[in-house]
Amino acid sequence: MSETLFTKIINREIPADIVYEDDISLAFRDINPQAPVHLLVIPKKAIATINDIGEDDRELVGHLYWVAGKLAKEMGFAEDGYRTVMNCGENSGQTVFHIHLHLLAGKPMGWPPY
Ligand code: 5GP
Repeated sequence: MSETLFTKIINREIPADIVYEDDISLAFRDINPQAPVHLLVIPKKAIATINDIGEDDRELVGHLYWVAGKLAKEMGFAEDGYRTVMNCGENSGQTVFHIHLHLLAGKPMGWPPY
């Protein structure tokens, strides 16, 4: 797949406020936050959309949720709660085609999300 700006963030070719990194994932602050805390948790492997997640990627995707939960707990949001969202495709509003888990926290949120 073609490289997105998230690959450039992984490679430190463009700056980002990185809050967590391990061998297979990276988490950084969204440039246009929709909540007091808005992080993006991404795999280092470039996967365009949820549709492109392969059988071999199942553990990797679970890892993204583990990182989101770990960061939310460390930041003190476990009790009040928070939201994780992974958009897929045009109708969802996905704009960057490298899968990413949004972690939104720090305020009550409505449902449904439109
Ligand atoms: P999507 O709409 O694809 O689910 O989410 C993409 C997210 O990436 C958006 O929330 C947008 O604000 C964020 N974003 C886009 N460009 C950049 C950037 O250069 N740096 C950071 N940190 N976030 C970005």
